[in-house]
Amino acid sequence: MKFNLFTRILAFLKILFREILDLVYKRKCVGCGCAINNGIVCKTCVKDVENLSYFAQGIINGFPVYSVFYYTGFIKSLIHSLKFKHNKICACYAAKYLFDYIKNIKDIDFSNALIIPVSTHKKNFYKRGYNNVYEIGLELSKLTGFKINNDVLIKTKYTKPQFEMNYNQRRKNVRNSFYLKDFSHEGLIILLDDIVTTGSTLETITSLFKEKGFSNLICLTLSKTKLNK
Ligand SMILES: [Zn+2]
Repeated sequence: MKFNLFTRILAFLKILFREILDLVYKRKCVGCGCAINNGIVCKTCVKDVENLSYFAQGIINGFPVYSVFYYTGFIKSLIHSLKFKHNKICACYAAKYLFDYIKNIKDIDFSNALIIPVSTHKKNFYKRGYNNVYEIGLELSKLTGFKINNDVLIKTKYTKPQFEMNYNQRRKNVRNSFYLKDFSHEGLIILLDDIVTTGSTLETITSLFKEKGFSNLICLTLSKTKLNK
């Protein structure tokens, strides 16, 4: 793990700020809202997760897709809290889960891996002030020492939220909504997202990587919905 001084100070200030907030506002479980003494989740909610296997659970455009959990229970709340409630500490926990998970993947060479987070449109970025997936990627980068690149994959088209869309509607919604800049990387690319549903977003993005000649890539998501085909 490589830490520079700035990152360390920033991480320290983040924790300090969080602690001060916790003194003012009582710490609450992300899952059920009950009072807790430390962390982000209570003892009941932490058990309310459904782990997935350490093998690829799907293939998109020839690339394996790994997800850590099903999108249920506490994990659903964690993702929601990071995305919509500015609860950025959730990114640290999400990264920790991803880190523990990838340590168990046996058939992938992670040396010289590069994390590329699925980007958000600038409209969402300005609304939230951050890209939730990039926040997870940053924390994962700190834990693993993998580099992260948030500049090459651009969301060019603002797309409607996909919650209630079916597979075909989603495909149409995300088609041509990303752009991949020219860049080179020797080694594994980890395309990171918080959730995979139908896989239409990952399908769109992985096809861009394929067109540019990248063949060493995995999709890694914190969660996947049970409807995923
Ligand atoms: Zn709880």
